[in-house]
Amino acid sequence: MGSTVNRAWRSCCTMWASYGLSWPAQDIDILGTLSHPSRSRPSRHLLFVFVRTHSAIQGTPLSATLSLVMSQCCRKIKDTVQKLASDHKDIHSSVSRVGKAIDRNFDSEICGVVSDAVWDSREKQQQTLQMAILEHLYQQGMLSVAEELCQESTLNVDLDFKQPFLELNRILEALHEQDLGPALEWAVSHRQRLLELNSSLEFKLHRLQFIRLLAGGPEKQLEALSYARHFQPFAHVHQREIQVMMGSLVYLQLGLEKSPYCHLLDNSHWAEICETFTRDACSLLGLSVESPLSVSFASGCVALPVLMNIKAVMEQRQCSGVWSHKDELPIEIELGMKCWYHSVFACPILRQQTSDSNPPIKLICGHVISRDALNKLINGGKLKCPYCPMEQNPADGKRIIF
Ligand SMILES: [Zn+2]
Repeated sequence: MGSTVNRAWRSCCTMWASYGLSWPAQDIDILGTLSHPSRSRPSRHLLFVFVRTHSAIQGTPLSATLSLVMSQCCRKIKDTVQKLASDHKDIHSSVSRVGKAIDRNFDSEICGVVSDAVWDSREKQQQTLQMAILEHLYQQGMLSVAEELCQESTLNVDLDFKQPFLELNRILEALHEQDLGPALEWAVSHRQRLLELNSSLEFKLHRLQFIRLLAGGPEKQLEALSYARHFQPFAHVHQREIQVMMGSLVYLQLGLEKSPYCHLLDNSHWAEICETFTRDACSLLGLSVESPLSVSFASGCVALPVLMNIKAVMEQRQCSGVWSHKDELPIEIELGMKCWYHSVFACPILRQQTSDSNPPIKLICGHVISRDALNKLINGGKLKCPYCPMEQNPADGKRIIF
């Protein structure tokens, strides 16, 4: 159903991108010596021509040439303004086509699947939404927009909340500019915790710095060799990669780009390091790689059509009472592996997924069942494990948290 909207949107974008580009170059060139080199801004150019011409004729009787230039200029201005108006009209109609396509293709009645009971209060709802938007903006590096929202919504955001995002953005921006300094500094100061996460971020950063020196040619050879000492702590884990880098030194005279090691110079390493840094830094700072808002939005897009269908079916069969629990949907909706965050446990006795109210309990023999199952199996104050079958005190079971 979205394809009509997509088509309308794409055509609108194409039109917007080509706006002004289709103006014939001679519009500008014909004015010869008066011409302004900047073709990318026709309106500024026209203004420039007009001002020049105006100051040229002030207090001077019009010569034949000037009068010709003037009349050509006026004609061009008129033509261009007309073209501008007609292009604008085209863009406007393509934008309104997108709006109409959305109206035609999307069900506006999505309120039916929204339950206000999920929220404790209207204020709470608004505050949660604002915080989610704010976090998303910080995560996307749109810091000034986030600050603006903070002020307008009078949200009180302390520095502790902002700090990790600011730091992350500062380092990522430097990486995009191919500046490894801030990232290396960060990685070195968090070395121990990164190692605990099995992260190879620091090694990858040093490798990139080394490759950068290699790209400098034979005169950087000594510097590269001395930099190689940074690999020493990683020798046992990244032996193979270090061997490759050392091997590449042989070809430094010949030029690395003509050697079997040319892949080291590949630009994709920069994209990879940004990805590795974002993933490892987020995990270390306790942030999600994608903002909760974008994850919820993407999940909502998948779940909404299914929910709309189930709602319609429930209304048809007049069984709307089925959907009453505030934390639970009436059916399970598959969102794909990307949205799997926690392990789940289904009780082998009751064949139900465990929850906060019915958590998994580990018995002293090591077998795990749900609390409801455990309660059902108690006989005379004693519990017999349904699997091994060791007899035990039900109070000895321990709750497991995944
Ligand atoms: Zn057992």
